[in-house]
Amino acid sequence: MPSNLLILTPPTSQKGLAGYLRGALPLLREITRPRLGRFTLGVLLVIVSRAASLVVPGSFKILVDQIIAARRITLLGPLILAIVAGVIVHASSSLAVTRLLGKEGLRIVAYLRCRVQEHVGRLRLSYFDRNRVGGIVARIMLDIESIRNLVGIGVIEFLGSLLTALFSLVCLVSISARLTAISLSFVAAAMVVSKIVMARMGPLYNEIGTIHADITGRLSESLSGIRVVKGYRAEAQEARVFSGHVQRLLHCSLRSITSQSWLAFSNALFMGMGTAAVIFVATRQILSGALTPGDFFTFMAFAAFVTGPVLQLSAIGSTLAEAIACLDRTQDLLNEPSEDANLERRRDIGPIQGYVSFQRVCFSYESGQNVLCDITFEAQPGTVTALVGPSGAGKSTIIGLLMAFYDSSEGSIIVDGADLSRVTLDSYRRQLGVVLQDTFLFDGTIHENVAFARPDASEAEVLEACRIAHVREFAERFPARYNTVVGERGVRLSGGQRQRISIARAILADPRILILDEATSSLDSRSEAAIRDGLSYLMKARTSFVIAHRLSTIHRADQILFVEDGRIVERGTHEELYASRGKYYDLYTRQYWTAAAGAHPALQDNGPEPARSQSSGPAQ
Ligand code: ATP
Repeated sequence: MPSNLLILTPPTSQKGLAGYLRGALPLLREITRPRLGRFTLGVLLVIVSRAASLVVPGSFKILVDQIIAARRITLLGPLILAIVAGVIVHASSSLAVTRLLGKEGLRIVAYLRCRVQEHVGRLRLSYFDRNRVGGIVARIMLDIESIRNLVGIGVIEFLGSLLTALFSLVCLVSISARLTAISLSFVAAAMVVSKIVMARMGPLYNEIGTIHADITGRLSESLSGIRVVKGYRAEAQEARVFSGHVQRLLHCSLRSITSQSWLAFSNALFMGMGTAAVIFVATRQILSGALTPGDFFTFMAFAAFVTGPVLQLSAIGSTLAEAIACLDRTQDLLNEPSEDANLERRRDIGPIQGYVSFQRVCFSYESGQNVLCDITFEAQPGTVTALVGPSGAGKSTIIGLLMAFYDSSEGSIIVDGADLSRVTLDSYRRQLGVVLQDTFLFDGTIHENVAFARPDASEAEVLEACRIAHVREFAERFPARYNTVVGERGVRLSGGQRQRISIARAILADPRILILDEATSSLDSRSEAAIRDGLSYLMKARTSFVIAHRLSTIHRADQILFVEDGRIVERGTHEELYASRGKYYDLYTRQYWTAAAGAHPALQDNGPEPARSQSSGPAQ
């Protein structure tokens, strides 16, 4: 199967901020609805906090006009008391809102990560063919972290500030409608610039997110393939590719900084000019007696509460634009259809015997290009079907269809009388067992890796599976025995040991249909014998499908399907196909003599034309 190493994340469309917001709306609704009460409380606390902070500017008029100008010092004590009370209310409500919304933001991040991870686990395999794993990881970890700013403190603080601004605006108008109009005209100019810049920032942040996903994808691929990278001395080349991505990211981030800087510049400019204009007009009004100095100071202090949210818009605007773009991308991911989205898959299949029939099955990964064509065969319960044929012939694709990773484009696959395309995946797959060439181990203990197939299995069952699969022989030699940690993808074990763990896992799962992709590399004769022994036990009384490389497996198969160019071109037992001297004969004899030249352990007691009765049994 081709790796998805070179498949880049498709570029995301440039929707603009409103487009992102529209796309993100369902998810936004989903996360806010159950928290409406807490968010409302958050808004109320922000309003209380901001209202309390208005005590200080509100005191200016009394301070300047009644205490300083009229020299009424007796009012100073009560005024200071009022200010202190306001400060205490402001500080405590700020504390409460930060704790409430900060924690809620974290809970939302945790909820979204689990929700998206669960959905990703149920996506169709074709999604993973199109998208790199690192990119998906970046979406779950990085994108969702940025969403915290949108639903956490940021947006509610902003809402609270807006409400305070409205209240302050009323105060401003009551002091002087003319000064208010002058101030607002500058605020409006700043908002126009801010709107233009924000419209540019949405797509920019989306692009940054996509590049992030590319970088993480490439980085995780090159680190997990570090042996290949070093083997081909490709460190410099990897560094170049990485640096290319980082430069793209830098370029986009610089553009976003430029936008942010212009935003900050325009805000500072318009606000500063507005202040100058207000000072100019207000001073003339004070001199003409139309305004008191106390009114002027109060006006200036309240004006800060109106212009504040506009300035804040530039500070949190970019963060919010980024968060909305991330939310939109997360929603895109959640919109991807999951495997069980197919409404025809409704029937639970129940315990099966393991009868499998492919009936004129065709399949294409990309529409119009058939990879499999007219595949028809039957496998009776308890039999072994070996798939052989040249590389790229379609063997793994047949197995992929059998595992219901993909749906056939034509024809049908019948399992115990049920059409596989109508069966619920969970009920079917729990009866499948897989032992793949690329044995997949987690960075856990040997015990955890075996029990992965059935976490509820008893200790005795796990140990028994380890005994049958010859895991015991090496596990008990480690100081930590079955609690030995195997390393990422099992790197601390040999290839043969990894395969034995994978066989033990399948024995524990006790499947009705077994899928086996044999390893091509030869192992030392002891390991090979142990693996063959484990496999023989495993295949007993199950319907087995094997992408066969070991001659011993091919000999014992009840039927061999020779696949070429997506079609079954020969079928029969080893003896029948060998006697017909066709393509199988060519492949077999070539493989036999190649292996014999290298003293392949599988051949040590098998000649080129073994009788079927000789070739069956666990440890040929
Ligand atoms: P091998 O023995 O080398 O593993 P195979 O017989 O198992 O080969 P398949 O992996 O089934 O062959 O591939 C059959 C064809 O389908 C090949 O031409 C391959 O390029 C193509 N193919 C396989 N997987 C995908 C995929 N995920 N997307 C698109 N094309 C694919």
